[in-house]
This record gives sequence, structure tokens and C-alpha cells, in this order.
Amino acid sequence: MQKSKATSDAQPQLGGLGTGAVVVLDGGTRVRLDDRVDYWPATGEWRPLGPPSNAAELAGGVGMTSLLEYLASERVRTGHPVLGPVPLTSDRRVTCNYCQQPAELHGGLAVYPDRKDLANRSFWVCWNCNAWVGCHNGTDQPFGGLANEELRHARISAHKSFDPLWEQGRMTRREAYAWLSKTLSIPSEDCHIGMLSLEDCRRVNQVVWDTFEQP
Ligand SMILES: [Zn+2]
Repeated sequence: MQKSKATSDAQPQLGGLGTGAVVVLDGGTRVRLDDRVDYWPATGEWRPLGPPSNAAELAGGVGMTSLLEYLASERVRTGHPVLGPVPLTSDRRVTCNYCQQPAELHGGLAVYPDRKDLANRSFWVCWNCNAWVGCHNGTDQPFGGLANEELRHARISAHKSFDPLWEQGRMTRREAYAWLSKTLSIPSEDCHIGMLSLEDCRRVNQVVWDTFEQP
């Protein structure tokens, strides 16, 4: 097993293992520490999975808190160095827009271990800030600035507000984005939710509500 660099909110008693860190389980499965992972001491199996399928499994597995403690104690006991995912090489320099430190280039599985469809995509990552940004397909050119968890959630929320406008046939997708661009006074080429700031994502929720949903 290896893990990423400690995150800034890592709990000291867990030996630097923090939520959001990426762990490579024995056997090669990668999980983030906010994924559900159980350990079966009897068989030595690590399983990132949903609810146990039967009572025997329920009795055999230990949950995330124990996993963190186990990982920390094992690393201490065996004296292994704590390794992060190995960054990809790149001549490009990208700085984290939250902490101003250099970001690392990684394959998609380092960020989204369960998204095999992203395996060939690249991401600029700041593990300390739990922030990243995807790259244009086949390149190491980032789509924009890194997004931390708060911004990622805000963008998901904005999509949930906005997408039904065109998904439910109120207007076409093109019309919906034209309306959003005009309403927010954001040039259409920049008016994509994946490029919006935290503040603009909140404005999306507000204008959709004000215009279409307010009783
Ligand atoms: Zn950072």
C-alpha cells in the first residue's frame, strides 16, 4: 500500500492520512480515503464497495475509521516510506490558485480512482488544497484554474439548477446557454459552468430560481 502526500487537514494521529488522500491498496486498487473501504482481517482483503451483501461480510469487515488507523499503524510498524502517486512529467508549469504552490500533473485515476473512463485524461492537482483541474483531451493544457471541493460542489449545484431548463425541453441547450450568458453578463465563450467561479455558480442558482421557479 502507498498513499499520497498528507493533506492539510490530515489527522496527526493517523500518521498523515487525511480525507481525500489517495491510497493504493495491496492488489493495486486505488481509493480515496473518503470512499467507503472495508478490510477483512480474516482473508486480508481490502474492498472498496457498497454495503456488505450478507451477515458474514458484515461481521468480517472493518470500516473507514479502523482502516485509517490500520493503515497508519502498518506504515509505522513496517517502516515504509509514505509515498504519493507519482506525478507525470511535463514542461508546463501550473500553479495552484489557492496556495500558489506548483501543481502536479497526474493521470485521471489518481484523482478519480473509480472512473476508468478518465484514466487517459490528465489533471493538474494540488493535494494540499484537494484541488484539481482537468486538461484538454490528449494534452497537459488545463481547462482553467484548479477547483477545490467547495467550487466543485458549487458547479455541481449550478448544473442541477440549470440543466433541467434544456433537459426538460423548456428551451434548447443553445438557447439556455444564450439566456445564461445574457443574464449573467458573461461572454458566451466563457459561459460554461465548468469555468465559472464560486460566485457565478451561486448566481446561476439564483437567476434560475428567480426566473423559472419562484412561485
Ligand atoms: Zn494548493
